[in-house]
Amino acid sequence: MARKIAIIGGGIAGLSAGCYGRMNGYQTEIFEMHTVAGGVCTGWTRKGFTFDGCLHFLVGTSPGNRMRRIWDELGALDGTRIHDHEVFCDIVLPGGRKLTQYSDVDRLVAHLKEAVAPPARDRKRLDHLASDVKLWSGLNGRMGGARPPAQKPGIRGLLSRMRGMWKIRRYLPMFRRHGGSIQQYAAGYRHPDLRAFFELALPIDGMPAMSLLMLASVQNDKAGGWPEGGSLGLARAIWRRYTDLGGVIHFSAKVQEIVVRDGKAVGVRLSDGTVHDADEVISAADGRATLFGMLSGRYMTPGLQEVYSTLPLYEPFVQVSYGLNRLIPISELPRLRTIRPSAPVEIGGEKAGLLMLNNYSFDPTMAPAGKTVLSVLYQSPWAGWEKLQEDKAAYAARKARVLSDTTTWLETLFPGIAADIEATDVATPLTTVHFTGNHKGSYEGWRPTVATMRMKIEKRIPTLAHFAMIGQWTRPAAGLPTVAEDGRLIIQELCAQDGKAFVSGTPPARKDRGAA
Ligand SMILES: Cc1cc2nc3c(=O)[nH]c(=O)nc-3n(C[C@H](O)[C@H](O)[C@H](O)COP(=O)(O)OP(=O)(O)OC[C@H]3O[C@@H](n4cnc5c(N)ncnc54)[C@H](O)[C@@H]3O)c2cc1C
Repeated sequence: MARKIAIIGGGIAGLSAGCYGRMNGYQTEIFEMHTVAGGVCTGWTRKGFTFDGCLHFLVGTSPGNRMRRIWDELGALDGTRIHDHEVFCDIVLPGGRKLTQYSDVDRLVAHLKEAVAPPARDRKRLDHLASDVKLWSGLNGRMGGARPPAQKPGIRGLLSRMRGMWKIRRYLPMFRRHGGSIQQYAAGYRHPDLRAFFELALPIDGMPAMSLLMLASVQNDKAGGWPEGGSLGLARAIWRRYTDLGGVIHFSAKVQEIVVRDGKAVGVRLSDGTVHDADEVISAADGRATLFGMLSGRYMTPGLQEVYSTLPLYEPFVQVSYGLNRLIPISELPRLRTIRPSAPVEIGGEKAGLLMLNNYSFDPTMAPAGKTVLSVLYQSPWAGWEKLQEDKAAYAARKARVLSDTTTWLETLFPGIAADIEATDVATPLTTVHFTGNHKGSYEGWRPTVATMRMKIEKRIPTLAHFAMIGQWTRPAAGLPTVAEDGRLIIQELCAQDGKAFVSGTPPARKDRGAA
């Protein structure tokens, strides 16, 4: 009789574990509290427009990238057109100067040198950026980069470390140049516009500069494109792969408790009181809800205590989406524009110092012909939303104000645009919590810092057998590739425990995915 795995959460991590579980002959049941699968990798439709709530770029869209194999096995990209953009983003500095973040790093460097005319030291720094981005490309294929060699004790350990250092020696200057935060990296430029440009290229507090290198090299290699259909298309494709493999998914099935007997996870209890037995329980849901809610805080290790009391979260976003009866081609507004206005913009009673505009007009599945979906995102502290949780009227009033203030601001960029609005939507940090349960609306779990970037968070608890955690709460700097890979790794681990060879494969070609 095949062993039974209960998977909590039907986001990309849970779906991936489900797919690989089925490929390896396990009985799998996913329990998802929402009515659709995908978790934060999602989109929603309004009056014929699709508003995407997640994806900017998907690492692994090119054939040579190691992640591509996982996306293929998950049936995520089959028959899907990939859009790689010449301009990844344009960045508007305070005062209005616009600099372009070209995907091609040589073009980016040439553009910055020409546009800013920086001093010699900055020019050299930019040249290093170009060579480091290309060097990083060698690591991209491996995703997760150069993993340190396993530590061995004594003289053998020393020799093994020396061998490891020798192997990665050509990367060392690159690691040194990008070893700090993005803010520290930006501060290394003398020209104020270059400092501002690099800060805005990755506008997240304390974010490692290495992430910029990763992002820029993925773009330079055309290895991180946009799959047509966006987040919703991607999630639906993997969901379909899971059900085609015979996997079971229960919707509106909120797990309240992980049932434990004699130190072993033996099933899940749902909020409706029903109990579902299992031989293994994998939680791919919010980490805090899993450990402190479903397991009542009884299985915390010192390491997990430390993580849950010290690691920073991503500040959540407010996303205002528009379906417009006008075409805004990406030659006019690129896929992404980041704007630091000279003075913060007042939105919904808050001051937004940084705004991001997404233009989806390049993807014909997002809007009817001749029309455009635009979204405006800004970071908004959780505290301001938390207090509205119990006050529906105040929440609705704040959302209405957010919409009207954002529209007023948009009018300053695109005069007359208000008359073209056909559909709107405001998604707040409370929306994220409501639909995905992610703590304080954090969209990617733990915010990485230089100190935590390569940290691995325990996925297993020594005192609780037959239980594991996967997904974006099990490492800082998560993202779609890492959580999809998590699903594969956990099933590989189970196969090894069960003494059987892990198998995987790709689904038969399917050409109709765009119409999903
Ligand atoms: C705005 C935004 C932009 C992003 N951009 C990118 C990008 O460009 N590239 C990239 O790679 N990544 C990006 N990410 C990150 C990426 O989408 C996430 O890291 C990834 O989708 C997380 O997947 P997950 O399965 O680990 O978690 P989730 O998606 O959070 O899934 C968890 C699931 O568990 C369910 N759940 C929670 N509690 C329970 C319960 N008690 N019972 C049953 N079900 C439960 C939830 O409903 C949810 O479906 C972005 C995310 C956001 C929000």
